[in-house]
Amino acid sequence: MDEQTKSWRIVAVRRLSEAQLEALSEVAEVDYFEDVDESNRADFMAALSRAHGLIGGKLELNEAMLAEAPALQVVSTISVGYDHLPLKALNQRRILLCNTPDVLTETTADTAFMLIMATQRRLVELSNLVRDGGWRTHIGPEYFGIDVHGKTLGIVGAGRIGAAIARRGALGFGMPILYTAASSKPALEQQLGAKRRELNDLLAEADIVCLSVPYNSDTHHLIDADALARMKTTAALINIARGKVVDEPALIEALHSGGIRAAGLDVFVEEPLPPDSPLAAMDNVVTTPHIGSATHETREAMAQLAVDNLLGTLIGSGPLTAVNEHVWRRADAIEET
Ligand code: NAP
Repeated sequence: MDEQTKSWRIVAVRRLSEAQLEALSEVAEVDYFEDVDESNRADFMAALSRAHGLIGGKLELNEAMLAEAPALQVVSTISVGYDHLPLKALNQRRILLCNTPDVLTETTADTAFMLIMATQRRLVELSNLVRDGGWRTHIGPEYFGIDVHGKTLGIVGAGRIGAAIARRGALGFGMPILYTAASSKPALEQQLGAKRRELNDLLAEADIVCLSVPYNSDTHHLIDADALARMKTTAALINIARGKVVDEPALIEALHSGGIRAAGLDVFVEEPLPPDSPLAAMDNVVTTPHIGSATHETREAMAQLAVDNLLGTLIGSGPLTAVNEHVWRRADAIEET
């Protein structure tokens, strides 16, 4: 490695293995933070002020912090979603933003299907019944669930993850598939018989509505009180997208009042979910702590892709997966500052 390359500085924040940190250290000075909180924020900012690259999971970065990072050239997030990062400000500075699509698609679709199954068959509620000694006689209709196979699955946002959920539903469970997306999906229509619908029609027709859109100003509260009122009273809502895609108080009200039957939620407006949230206590809600991609294999693959993106960008071969490559490419080739 020549001296020029070695003079890069990288700030890394959580979720990287020793081997991955070592790979970064071979080409750069690395400041690693297991976590960033009030106790070490000043150290983090000092490191960021010198950094050319920033990598990590659940990165906290805003415009004010960017202003203190004059050398920053690439941000590599260990996630496919980037709603927590200031894309506009990154674009203005022509800082490349890399994310980790594809490698988490199948695992996140598994999570969605786990929530579908658990919600339809009341898995958590009935498991708790057994654990708490409440299983004293045969199980009657008050504990029956609802079939998954053959029910109509509505995918709101039939992108990479949405399509993978649709495949599971259509090919594994014989479910008719409805979907929304910004553009039509001929492959899904041909292979799975999926049908594109306007959102309101999908909400009215689907037995299970699954959210897999990115969070942005267009999808903020996409599922509000009005949308929930369009759903069948027997339907379930599954959210593996982002908490703020749903108007949470309106969802709680719909679940309380029987407006919809159940919900399976991996994401919330506030995370960790406050223990006193009604969502944590409702029998007709299955909650998981934002674990869409949280398997050993997938988290390792995501971190590796993020490392490859960062190193590829700094040392010249280019990123593998980036969000704003078109903006970055308009700039002159990255030069060390
Ligand atoms: P993707 O491939 O970009 O898919 C997003 C889909 O949403 C696309 O089909 C897109 O349409 C559609 N879409 C965008 N805006 C829409 C709107 N306003 N109305 C309807 N559809 C809209 O992304 P992905 O890889 O599947 O990931 C989706 C999201 O899942 C991520 O952004 C992230 O927030 C979330 N996620 C959560 C977890 C978790 O741990 N729970 C894990 C991974 C991802 P077009 O295809 O026509 O553009």
